[in-house]
Amino acid sequence: MGKADLHTHTTASDGALKPADLVKKAAEKGLKILSITDHDTVNGYLEAKETASDLQIELISGCEITTLWKDREVHLLAYYFDETDQGLLNLLKKQKSARIVRMKAIVESLKKEGLDIDIDEVRAESGPGNMGRPHAASVLINKGYVASVAEAFIRYLSSEKLKDIQTRYASIDETIDAVRKAGGVISLAHPGPIYSQSEIDDILTLGVDGLECIHPSHNFNVQRTFRQIAKTRNLLVTGGSDYHGKGKSDYDPYFGIVTIGNAHVASIKRLSQRRKSSNYA
Ligand code: AMP
Ligand code: ZN
Ligand code: FE
Ligand code: FE
Repeated sequence: MGKADLHTHTTASDGALKPADLVKKAAEKGLKILSITDHDTVNGYLEAKETASDLQIELISGCEITTLWKDREVHLLAYYFDETDQGLLNLLKKQKSARIVRMKAIVESLKKEGLDIDIDEVRAESGPGNMGRPHAASVLINKGYVASVAEAFIRYLSSEKLKDIQTRYASIDETIDAVRKAGGVISLAHPGPIYSQSEIDDILTLGVDGLECIHPSHNFNVQRTFRQIAKTRNLLVTGGSDYHGKGKSDYDPYFGIVTIGNAHVASIKRLSQRRKSSNYA
């Protein structure tokens, strides 16, 4: 029985490791099942496939999609979708552009605060991958404005600080629809510290299949609470380390440690198989 990690990031979004290097590290940590869930892109997953096959790691198609729900950003995890599905790929393409437009607005707001920062510097950090706030944080660290990613978020990049910037992310409904049409299943990412119980109830009614019960931000009690909710409502349980790589996030040490069991992965797979066969029927 191998261990599974269903939440990781690579250089295709805001992670530190290249997709192949993440897979190698996963193998070193004894993981047997892995999902690369970069923000709004499947490029890291696609790039990692060959290495995963060489190292006999089962790589599950995955993506962490930023969606809009009542003017808030909600992260949904999608798994086992058909990665050639045009509807889903179109949605992700728009997300990539929305991220660029948003980053330009973030850079402008930082300039207004007197910081010397340019979009090209953020682009130099992200490379061809999807731009995210951690890339802006790296620029601020390199320029000596802040000492850490955490400080960059507290002083400049929190959702509260950036609340006037409207991002054209896909709505939660259209995202759920696109993932389902691609035969995928949807889990609400790291619900623990973010939503109230009634907000979770509202989101679950929209067609979410599971809850990310296991995540480094969930202590034992939070994890137990979400497992209970999943059980009583017959929802899937997902989980993973949200690994971003060294210096990128506080969850760094949990790779290979925060994992889920095979039985949960099998349930996720079964639902996607049922969905695919009814979609194509
Ligand atoms: P974005 O995709 O631009 O919305 O950025 C979201 C990413 O920023 C998350 O996936 C984390 O990697 C990182 N992040 C969010 N909040 C914080 C925080 N308070 N401290 C450090 N990193 C954060
Ligand atoms: Zn991230
Ligand atoms: Fe997230
Ligand atoms: Fe994540």
